[in-house]
Amino acid sequence: MSVVVYTESENGKLKKNAFEVASYAAEVAKQLGTSATAVSINCKENELLGDYGITKVLNVTSDTLSTFNAKAYAEVVASAVKNESATITIVSSSADTKFMAPLLAASLDAGYVPNVVDAPESTSPFIVKRTVFSNKGFAHTAINSENKLVGVSNNAFGAIENKVTATIEDFTVALSDNAFNTKSTEIDKVVGKATIADADIVVSAGRGLKGPENWGMVEELADILGAATACSKPVSDLGWRPHGEHVGQTGKPVASNLYIAIGISGAIQHLAGVSSSKTKVVINTDPEAPFFKAADYGIVGDAFEVVPQLIEKLKDFKAQNS
Ligand code: FAD
Repeated sequence: MSVVVYTESENGKLKKNAFEVASYAAEVAKQLGTSATAVSINCKENELLGDYGITKVLNVTSDTLSTFNAKAYAEVVASAVKNESATITIVSSSADTKFMAPLLAASLDAGYVPNVVDAPESTSPFIVKRTVFSNKGFAHTAINSENKLVGVSNNAFGAIENKVTATIEDFTVALSDNAFNTKSTEIDKVVGKATIADADIVVSAGRGLKGPENWGMVEELADILGAATACSKPVSDLGWRPHGEHVGQTGKPVASNLYIAIGISGAIQHLAGVSSSKTKVVINTDPEAPFFKAADYGIVGDAFEVVPQLIEKLKDFKAQNS
């Protein structure tokens, strides 16, 4: 028996969340006195998983799986779980995996708990802590079925180095006839920019910026920091920014290490999407803006004065430290 973890990759490279779920799987395996096996698809750097406690990797190489397909990927992971006779499966809480996980749970007849933020509190019964009510609270949830599926929140458990040697085995899966009942025929993706889901730093702006013509300084700040850009809901509703940048309860969740909020009031629906971010910096003219209560650092000031100064300081810092 082992713990199986699905480690996501893109263009052959492991995603940041792959190291987090690998670390989580290694911890669960340690608690159970067993080992952790990863299953990866078209990944070219599987050996790195050994740095995070994975002792075996089942590597699937297949052109038909070159783009994400929930049903087909669920079949691959289910097949790996059966191959290892595992009863505990770990996945991330990425958008793709949240799409795949219910199919995987159904196929394994497993109890599924997403948004888990900590190592299991107990393994018998198996109890995990997860976020609920748009990250406003926690639930301690027991998974009572024999097979268990745990979705770990991004940036919650962290990537914990624990060097072992990972043996890498080729793994082939005979996919069912209906694995590709749906198929993406074309994917348009923003290239060359950090994405909100994977970014370590997110620079986000709201209606306080007055209009789309003022986003140049937001993009410049993001460029200097290697950050993704994001916005509040009204900003995308007004068409100032693309909908893909809208963060919050009805938009994307952000679990970055640094979230800089410029001219955003901090309404509860916005905060729901950013509460998993580690450090929040708020720039707002109104000292009573609710966002300051959730901030780690706050600057009461006009964005049109503060942001250009911040950009200049960061440029100086980079020039001195390059
Ligand atoms: P505002 O509330 O207008 O705030 C602008 C802020 O900018 C103010 O705090 C102001 O002091 C500050 N400001 C003004 N000028 C400057 C300046 N020069 N420099 C610095 N600061 C300045 N919102 C989301 O963001 N995400 C969601 O997912 C979401 N989901 C929702 C779901 C529902 C069902 C509902 C009802 C609402 C939802 N909202 C969501 C909307 C939310 O309630 C707020 O209306 C919205 O977040 C406010 O956006 P804002 O902070 O950009 O704008």
